[in-house]
Amino acid sequence: MRLDDMDQSDNIEDRRGSGGGFGGGGGFSGGGMSFGGGGGLGIGTLIILGLIGWATGINPLLLIGGAEAISGRVGGSGYEQPARQQQTRTSTPQDEIGVFVSRILKSNEDVWTKVLPQQTNVSFTRPKLVLFNGATQSACGRAESATGPFYCPGDQKVYLDTSFFDEMTRRFGGGGKFADAYVVSHEIGHHVENLLGILGKVNAQQRRVDERTANQLSVRVELMADCLGGVWAYHSRDRLQIDDGDIEQALRTASAIGDDRLQKLGRGRVVPDSFTHGSSEQRQRWFSRGWTAGDINQCNTFQAQQL
Ligand SMILES: [Zn+2]
Repeated sequence: MRLDDMDQSDNIEDRRGSGGGFGGGGGFSGGGMSFGGGGGLGIGTLIILGLIGWATGINPLLLIGGAEAISGRVGGSGYEQPARQQQTRTSTPQDEIGVFVSRILKSNEDVWTKVLPQQTNVSFTRPKLVLFNGATQSACGRAESATGPFYCPGDQKVYLDTSFFDEMTRRFGGGGKFADAYVVSHEIGHHVENLLGILGKVNAQQRRVDERTANQLSVRVELMADCLGGVWAYHSRDRLQIDDGDIEQALRTASAIGDDRLQKLGRGRVVPDSFTHGSSEQRQRWFSRGWTAGDINQCNTFQAQQL
């Protein structure tokens, strides 16, 4: 993948280095990265928890608003207070990782601005991407490094602590630039699902069903986002010179963050009923589907007989 001549998106909200953002919370303590209780969880542990959470749905249900539904914390207490005014830099980032993310974001904006109306008659509005470290506030609640990257439909923003990329590389081998691009594009995929009205419908449905069924709905949402990541790759192929090695990298990542693999890693056993993102095999297959077809309509996991 070549990004050198890609423009940067200016739709980045850079909250990094704003001192953690929170006064009172008793959550993260600045540089030491330990929880208030003095448990001394290292940042590595936090991020790996986040990675597992991200892919197994402990926390990422937030991204479709499902956590509130499942835990019964609908509205009210489920949502935290509106964000305290945080120091925010809205100019395009200049550091390496910031430049990288803003270019991937731009590439997604270009693709979806064209492809979404073409294929679905829905117009694309750009999501904001929030870069943060430590912790920050979202309309879906408080975000921490351990939360893992997520999309919040409430404010239409993608939240990303870039240390997640390092951890992904370290823990799961492989990793790499295209793997990172896949993660970002998966989150933008959730935004596309939101624009299509899918997240709202799923969220409403999840409030009415048992946890197992709610999880199955979540898997459909996630696999569709994987597929949409593939659609992005398809339409960026020439522009970004995406090659087979890149796709290989995305597939390795999709496999690494499958629910079955992460559950095995996290709790030593696999409980399919609790899957919220899909198995390694499913995640690979749906990404491939988008990459091969380049067509949003091929990503409709809600009409698929088999996932
Ligand atoms: Zn997701």
